[in-house]
Amino acid sequence: MATINVTRSSMPDFAEYCEEIRELWDSRWLTNMGVKHKTLEAELQKLLGCDYLTLFTNGHLALENVIEAFDLHGEIITTPFTFASTTHAIVRCGCKPVFCDIDPTTFTMDPAKLEALITDKTVAILPVHVYGNLCDVDAIDAVAKRHGLPVIYDAAHAFAVERDGVSAGAFGDAAMFSFHATKVFNTIEGGAVCVRSAEMLQRLCDLKNFGIHGPESTPYVGGNAKMNEFCAAMGLCNLRHLDAEIEKRRLVAERYDARLAGVPGLQINRIPENVRFNYAYYPVVFDGFQYTRDEVYARLAEQDIYARKYFYPLTNAFECYRGKPGFDPKDTPVAAHIADRVLTLPMYADLPLEKVDQICGIILK
Ligand SMILES: *Cc1c(COP(=O)(O)O)cnc(C)c1O
Repeated sequence: MATINVTRSSMPDFAEYCEEIRELWDSRWLTNMGVKHKTLEAELQKLLGCDYLTLFTNGHLALENVIEAFDLHGEIITTPFTFASTTHAIVRCGCKPVFCDIDPTTFTMDPAKLEALITDKTVAILPVHVYGNLCDVDAIDAVAKRHGLPVIYDAAHAFAVERDGVSAGAFGDAAMFSFHATKVFNTIEGGAVCVRSAEMLQRLCDLKNFGIHGPESTPYVGGNAKMNEFCAAMGLCNLRHLDAEIEKRRLVAERYDARLAGVPGLQINRIPENVRFNYAYYPVVFDGFQYTRDEVYARLAEQDIYARKYFYPLTNAFECYRGKPGFDPKDTPVAAHIADRVLTLPMYADLPLEKVDQICGIILK
């Protein structure tokens, strides 16, 4: 019996990738903003609907670089129901994360609880479009404007998601995307940042290349976070198949919905009518169901099917932060409740629909 994992990377045909990288053997230009990098950057800037975009070696360094580019020093309001990267990026940049609770249906920052967390030390708001569910961007924007704070979105899950035709890349002062192998669109490892001005774009471009601006000018203490040509080439190939991939994911999600919607004790993700979704994940909250989340996880694992407790634990419960002031899951009770009950089920373009039936059968038995 073949193992089913929670995800499986999308890849082009081997021949397609070979064709894409052939010219690199002639040019011998392997990294440092070569032709693949430039082409991918231009295509993504269009697709993600932002004026300025630049690529990074991964989403995490994209996030650290954008925090640096905004020159932030102080408290950043964020949520703990996210991947380690979001919280770690804030801390590694020398800022202090302040945790806002989440909305129980979208799993994103609850804007009603945001304003009370703002102090004279607050320097930015960093919400996450969890599972591709867009944050309440209008409400967050209104609070941010009132207090003159920049909003940086962790849009790692929200590639190709649109609301009323507006891309996730267009919300806030900046948006970070991840192109990690497990994401809807991958460049093996990779990421990007969307920003709103040519100046901010230039700063990011300098920062990701050791802070070097020109041959004799190094205005920033930058690191190295450039995307190489082989990763950019993978992105160019995967981009050609993006619509087909998302369509296949949609069929998987619909099959899950057909079996799981309306079952007492199961909360499934709802997608608003005006949203074009990417079906990045299939989260289910087991709340008052006949089995607990952990029981369902174990039953699936017995059949070699690996769902994921995503996101559990909360980042404010990580042992690396234990005992630090402000890191306490009790401060974010809704997030703590969901983290104890959520499971993301296997979801990828080539997941056979019979497998979805099998998974649902195991859950509902
Ligand atoms: C994947 C992910 C990241 C980090 O992206 P990498 O490309 O893996 O470095 C950050 N935030 C969230 C929410 C993610 O899912």
